[in-house]
Amino acid sequence: KKNLIIFGTRPEAIKMAPLVKEFQRHTENFETKVCITAQHREMLDQVLDFFEITPDFDLNLMKPNQNLYTLTADIITSLKPVLESFMPDYVYIHGDTTTTMAASIAAFYSGAKVCHVEAGLRTFNKRSPFPEEVNRNIASSISDYHFAPTSTSQQNLINENIKDSSILVTGNTVIDALKYSSNKVTSATYTDDEINKLKTIISDSKKTILVTGHRRENHGQGFINICNALKQIAIENPDVEIVYPVHLNPKVQKPVFELLSNVGNIKLISPLSYPSFVWLMSRSYLIITDSGGVQEEAPSLGKPVLVMRDTTERPEAVEAGTVLLVGTDSQKIIKETNKLLKDNEAYVKMSKLHNPYGDGLSCQRIVDFISKL
Ligand code: UDP
Repeated sequence: KKNLIIFGTRPEAIKMAPLVKEFQRHTENFETKVCITAQHREMLDQVLDFFEITPDFDLNLMKPNQNLYTLTADIITSLKPVLESFMPDYVYIHGDTTTTMAASIAAFYSGAKVCHVEAGLRTFNKRSPFPEEVNRNIASSISDYHFAPTSTSQQNLINENIKDSSILVTGNTVIDALKYSSNKVTSATYTDDEINKLKTIISDSKKTILVTGHRRENHGQGFINICNALKQIAIENPDVEIVYPVHLNPKVQKPVFELLSNVGNIKLISPLSYPSFVWLMSRSYLIITDSGGVQEEAPSLGKPVLVMRDTTERPEAVEAGTVLLVGTDSQKIIKETNKLLKDNEAYVKMSKLHNPYGDGLSCQRIVDFISKL
């Protein structure tokens, strides 16, 4: 059977890399190729390096001032020759990006079976001006097989009349990636200059608050509020150090560098490679983020997460009590952060080690499922 695994952004690469590895362990049954759209470039290449994956097809589509119209069109037209030359039986797409949606359409045109990894997440707000929910819905309606991370996401798909037999609950492949990373980083031969450098930058005597943010829905006033809150937290708590790897999107970089460059206990750094970021998560006291993947990883490391969004398509960790939605209201972010810094009972409650997103064997389940078709 011929597999084509398509992705384009950093989070997709992290979550698809272990699937590439797992299929590559089964060359007796599968010929597996990787195609990247490179919707992100630099941040994607960092991930590929770490997982030692060389793409077979690199569409290299990232352009300055890209918009959703041209990106969608470019992905579909650039995939045509790839699909027509390799003629895969199965095409794997991930999550909810423009790459996911456009690649699912192209794969459908080619006649391949479409397999959606991280299927069934929903905010139930298709009228949001942000494309993720619609991207997920399009991918679900096109896909032949749906790999749902949890029973909640499985149920969402069943509620949309997707056949039960085409859905498999697998856990989230991000936990497979986390496992791969900690095995590699703790091996005797591994050295990492970036982690060594981080050790010299980060204060040992202060509590680290790790911050990340990138979502379109927070661009503009959202990021201004977030930055104002971070500044206030840093000023009120001199025993704390905020470490913030700033996403490369100019709409994120501008407010963050303008508002936070001159605060002593805020360290603005470049986006980190995956192993460094995992290392930083594990030595943090708490994480403030709008990232989806970080919400899924942190419970495995026992780190409380404050999510700077009003809704989440990942309700499981909120229900488990390890993640709290705080939105982008400055006062709310400050209040909940101060609570976790000062109220030990509240902190301990949120830092329990319980991960509703899986056990690190998701990719094995996907490969077993496809092998039996
Ligand atoms: N991540 C990383 N370096 C960073 C920040 C995040 O490798 O500097 C990883 C993180 O561990 C997680 C993923 O990137 O697996 C999350 O990506 P992002 O927040 O960009 O996207 P989302 O998960 O919200 O789609």
